[in-house]
Amino acid sequence: MRRRTLGTLVLLATLSLVGVVYTQMIWLKRAQQHEHEQIALQLQQQQQLDKQFNDRVTIALTEVTERILSITKDPSDLFDAVKQERPNYFAVTINDTIHPYLLEALLQQEFKRRNINEDFEYGIYDCFTDSIVYGNYVSLGDSVHADSARHSQLLKLDKDGHYFGVYFPRRTSSLWTPGTEGTINWAYPATVTLIMFAFFAYSVWVILRQKRLGEMKNDFIGNMTHELKTPISTIALSSEVLCDPDIVNEPERLRNYARIIHSENERLRQQVERVLQLATLDNGGGLNMEAVDLHDILEETLNSFEVLLKERSGTCTMDLNAKEHLVRGDRIHLGNVLFNLLDNAVKYSKTPPQIHISTSNDNKHVRVKVADKGIGMRKEDLRNIFERFFRIHTGNVHDVKGFGLGLHYVAQMVRAHGGKIHVDSTWGQGSTFTLELPVWKGGGKT
Ligand code: ADP
Repeated sequence: MRRRTLGTLVLLATLSLVGVVYTQMIWLKRAQQHEHEQIALQLQQQQQLDKQFNDRVTIALTEVTERILSITKDPSDLFDAVKQERPNYFAVTINDTIHPYLLEALLQQEFKRRNINEDFEYGIYDCFTDSIVYGNYVSLGDSVHADSARHSQLLKLDKDGHYFGVYFPRRTSSLWTPGTEGTINWAYPATVTLIMFAFFAYSVWVILRQKRLGEMKNDFIGNMTHELKTPISTIALSSEVLCDPDIVNEPERLRNYARIIHSENERLRQQVERVLQLATLDNGGGLNMEAVDLHDILEETLNSFEVLLKERSGTCTMDLNAKEHLVRGDRIHLGNVLFNLLDNAVKYSKTPPQIHISTSNDNKHVRVKVADKGIGMRKEDLRNIFERFFRIHTGNVHDVKGFGLGLHYVAQMVRAHGGKIHVDSTWGQGSTFTLELPVWKGGGKT
């Protein structure tokens, strides 16, 4: 996929996502508005019903008061005797004290007559004790939990004289409670949208990564074909010469061609070896773990580099200062790891390579540093060099051969050995690779 097409696709997908989110927000807002209207309407209806109920109770209680007055033969007229003091709580002023049974009977009669089928409790104010004496809980409806409401709201009022109070414990009054807020929950749509965005971002990341990997793979195939073709054709040409029967008369020429075949074959072997190293990793190839002396491996690897270093008039110095240098690992793979680092140090030096290897101990780890004074790397490339197939486009040093597999293999192997790898590099001045592997104290060869 071309970069432009991908860019357009990502842009379109982002726009459609934003569109979906925008539409969702509009719908949610509308739903919320609608819900508010519904709630307001319900509240209005409820308030009307409550008002009707209160009016009916007030009339019934006024009726009760009048009947009390007529029973006690009190000629006075009680104006405005019934007062609603709190939600569902009414206080009725009377001239004298009254017997609770009589009051209860009157209240029941009147409530029934007015069709007030609500549980209620009543209490009568006692002037001597200055408190409300609880009357009774009267259940008119089908409520069975009378006890739970007992004494709940029969409060003494701040007034003198005789009065009784009636409270309806089962009613919830909308007239006295603040309006309920909208209940639309934004958390759910917000979470879904967030997940959608995260998924989208992840998909874009995967696509870009795959695209980059695809490009690097193509580079790798191109590189590998080139790298394999050159020695194969050189070997083919040299062996053709060797097929000439007259060559036996020129032993020097014969030796030369045999040497060419040998060295090109060695090159081929190394290239194949690198690809195989990676295949081992990909197949999760098992490591043959044993006690390995890192100092021994360093020396062995360096020995195999002597010829190459001499060819490039390079030098390599060693400071093996680690007191504990035994690790648990795969001898062959650890050798390959060091080989790759040394190989790079030689490859990426324009001048005769100057390599310094040192070891030290730190916090149960043995540290190996491979430092060179080669071309170095830019900061922005450093975080990618351990990726598979990654190669720095080095411009004027593009002639350096490689597949972009070496450091990936090194990093994977170090990780498989429970270690870490770190690189410091300055463009134009050189690089230092630091390996850290856990020291092994399980005995064995030292
Ligand atoms: P290859 O050497 O086959 O290209 P590697 O994985 O070994 O692949 O290295 C990846 C890239 O890191 C190389 O292309 C090179 O640009 C850079 N690199 C690795 N080691 C060094 C080094 N010692 N000095 C400078 N650049 C290096």
